[in-house]
Amino acid sequence: MLDSIKEYCGIFGVFKIPQAAYWTSLGLFALQHRGEESAGIVTHHAGMLHGKHGLGLVSDVFSQEQVDQLQGDSAIGHVRYSTAGGTGIHNCQPFLMRYKQGPIALAHNGNLTNADTLKHILAEQGTVFSSSSDSEAILHFIARAQKDSLIEQLKEALSLVKGAYCLLLLTPWCMIAVRDPHGFRPLVVGRKTTPTGTGYVVASESCALDMIEASYDREIAPGEIVVFSLQGVQSYSLDKAHTQSTPCVFEHIYFSRPDSFVFSRPVYETRKALGRALAQIAPIKADMVIPVPDSGVPAAIGYSEASGISFDMALTRSHYVGRSFIKPEQETRALSVKLKLSTIRSVLDKKRVVIVDDSLVRGTTSRQMIQLLRQAGVKEVHLRISAPPSLYPCFYGIDMPDQAQLIAARMNQEEIRQFIDADSLAYLTIDDVRQAVAYSPGQFCESCFTGCKDHG
Ligand code: AMP
Repeated sequence: MLDSIKEYCGIFGVFKIPQAAYWTSLGLFALQHRGEESAGIVTHHAGMLHGKHGLGLVSDVFSQEQVDQLQGDSAIGHVRYSTAGGTGIHNCQPFLMRYKQGPIALAHNGNLTNADTLKHILAEQGTVFSSSSDSEAILHFIARAQKDSLIEQLKEALSLVKGAYCLLLLTPWCMIAVRDPHGFRPLVVGRKTTPTGTGYVVASESCALDMIEASYDREIAPGEIVVFSLQGVQSYSLDKAHTQSTPCVFEHIYFSRPDSFVFSRPVYETRKALGRALAQIAPIKADMVIPVPDSGVPAAIGYSEASGISFDMALTRSHYVGRSFIKPEQETRALSVKLKLSTIRSVLDKKRVVIVDDSLVRGTTSRQMIQLLRQAGVKEVHLRISAPPSLYPCFYGIDMPDQAQLIAARMNQEEIRQFIDADSLAYLTIDDVRQAVAYSPGQFCESCFTGCKDHG
């Protein structure tokens, strides 16, 4: 029986920029929110690929000295976290392997929906796997493809693959970036000029381009393959490139950093617009609007602006503990909410507060947080969520628990309100989200809210 794990990641690559590993480590710092479990970098130097990866944050895995040891002017990097079972040094990316045409490295963000089938086919043919990661299957299919050029091998391999993938590949000759035909996850390209010339940068989010002062040029299009080589930059299309693109709306709601420009839209503005919509749809009399930091901040600003209720940071967040989802056990997760959030009693005592958060998943954060607020003496607490509650697990690369753990799949709105002990609870419907963000049905993947995953 082959393992199969889901992974949620960030990828970053540079081509023809001296000290590539250094720039890549900075890019990965900017993408740390996309995965805290492992980090890795592979560089190209003098015809060879060299890699280092390890478990933990970028800062745990790479000292300055270790970054300096990775010589070369091209590199790809990866940060990841995965569902339970996936932790392990063997699953760290980028994968670095050697096939008939020489060394090749791969970094993947996304989730393949037919990974079990693909791995079964490979296993039946005698393939041995060095990891339990689904991404490794892509490399095996590239190696098996009966084609001469890497582009053709890649196209053949990806014609078998379904689901979400943004890929970066590195060989001694080129760096390749690919985005799946639906464009579920974001991938952007920019340029950086140094005294030796101009090189290219590819990143999951534009905040990583900003980090290294690279320009933002454009998104890599859904179904596009971009090859960076000494011959310049060439763009190709995957065979299914004309599929309707359905980027993930949850990147805007929660996952991406607010300073990123994702799917050609500013994330911060989206979140503020959702907060403004929430204030119009679910008004309440209160003394202050408080965000659940950090990701609830832009929506709370929007709510405050539209309602005229003053904004206050009466919940503070410790940045020394990881995201609460990263701990797999429920009990540990409840504890990590407590470790993460604390209240400012002097501001909250005897006040009516509106708490704004960006999503309602298991309800753990809300319940714990409301308990903390009551202990701090609030008179009333009204929870507002700037999205619909999650009703279905995500199949395309966002960490969502099984449906049984999703609170809104088990309880109606009033039952949830009682469970989390709020005085009132309101959230947006998917139509409210579409209206606030100005898009039409089918333009984004909303399957965690609607369950509809008819993406071909
Ligand atoms: P919950 O307490 O389970 O309802 O989780 C909601 C909280 O988790 C919100 O504060 C979100 O900002 C955050 N959140 C939502 N989705 C995710 C995710 N996929 N990974 C980590 N945190 C998340």
